[in-house]
Amino acid sequence: MRTTVGIVGAGPAGLLLARLLHRAGIDSVVLESRDRSYVEQRQRAGILEQGTVDVLRAAGAGERMDREGLRHDGIELRYDRRRHRVDFPALTGGRSVMVYAQTEVCKDLIALQLKEGGPLLFEAEALAVEGADTDSPRVRFRHEGRESVLECDYVVGCDGFWGVARKAIPAGLTRTFERTYPFAWLGILADVPPSHDELVYARHDRGFALLSMRSPSVSRLYLQVPEGTDAEQWSDEEIWQELQYRFETADGWRLERGPITQKSVTPMRSYVHEPMRHGRLFLAGDAAHIVPPTGAKGLNLAVGDVVTFARALVHLRETGSAERLDAYSQTCLRRVWQAERFSYDMTTMLHRAPDATPFDDGLQLARLDRIASSRAAATDLAEGYTGFPLD
Ligand SMILES: Cc1cc2nc3c(=O)[nH]c(=O)nc-3n(C[C@H](O)[C@H](O)[C@H](O)COP(=O)(O)OP(=O)(O)OC[C@H]3O[C@@H](n4cnc5c(N)ncnc54)[C@H](O)[C@@H]3O)c2cc1C
Repeated sequence: MRTTVGIVGAGPAGLLLARLLHRAGIDSVVLESRDRSYVEQRQRAGILEQGTVDVLRAAGAGERMDREGLRHDGIELRYDRRRHRVDFPALTGGRSVMVYAQTEVCKDLIALQLKEGGPLLFEAEALAVEGADTDSPRVRFRHEGRESVLECDYVVGCDGFWGVARKAIPAGLTRTFERTYPFAWLGILADVPPSHDELVYARHDRGFALLSMRSPSVSRLYLQVPEGTDAEQWSDEEIWQELQYRFETADGWRLERGPITQKSVTPMRSYVHEPMRHGRLFLAGDAAHIVPPTGAKGLNLAVGDVVTFARALVHLRETGSAERLDAYSQTCLRRVWQAERFSYDMTTMLHRAPDATPFDDGLQLARLDRIASSRAAATDLAEGYTGFPLD
């Protein structure tokens, strides 16, 4: 098998890249180790930045998103039983975000790829990327019980944090930066209309809580829990009670309860792998970096990387200049580090560390008060949340 761009992984990064390349007339093959329904059902991110929304629309993949997604013009910060709304369009010159689940983005892109695009092979596990520093890199993979080789001009590793592509870069040429956090998120999906029409980020002495949603009838809620927590340790009643404590306000706001349909625990990690390119192998999305979910950046960063790659390849084809492809790693890493900073700031402002002192609590409240009282501070949050520019 031979193609121009071999794409490892059919998460949001790999699927969108295949779509962007198809629209530019560049052929690709996508290899995905899991089956289609697994990829379509995997519950993860749900907030699309303005830039991501614009890219999906321009790629002809925004029709259902525009019909079913929920445009959000702000978030609410909750602390000390008080509420403060951050108004995105007013602070950023009109930018907003869209609530549309990662599962739905993947379903839309898979349907388009199977209808119009190049091959997308499910249950095709990449075993190794070889010859990254040659003119003809290859992906060795297993599909339907047979080992095969995909010969490529370029390979893009979109295979997530646990994938194989990153391993093809010699350890001596790489640097990694990592921070783990002593807490995790217990996330639930519940069949109940969201109790607030925008996301609520709550800082509480008992720990952080987030109210989010998947649709007008499905709520997504999270609780900060100790690292290593087993979701089954928490009964449904305990979860609702704890959410009620953490979201409580002085003005009598009420949290609506409903049947919990899914429970899971997400660890919190910050991670950056440098460089994001070695020869003709490029890393994109979670394969190269992880952010804690507090800033809602993971999926959006994955989109940014593949947009940068696709634009650079089109530039090479149109002008003969590899300048933008050569700058891929630096261009992406500039954006990645801004997202790392933003996600870290949001995480440390809102979560209570197990060893937090009264001084730490005072600082968190001062940071929140600053956002509530200063247009400059609120603008900084709004700009970070709605997203950094795509190059
Ligand atoms: C539990 C969880 C919850 C999250 N919640 C949020 C959130 O609320 N907000 C947010 O912004 N972000 C969240 N994220 C992060 C966000 O979902 C990711 O940043 C996003 O999925 C990155 O997309 P990706 O395409 O780079 O990687 P992935 O979505 O991880 O896709 C990688 C794909 O590669 C495939 N693959 C792996 N190895 C191979 C192989 N050897 N061969 C072939 N295919 C392979 C995998 O099966 C997968 O389909 C969450 C992540 C997790 C794990």
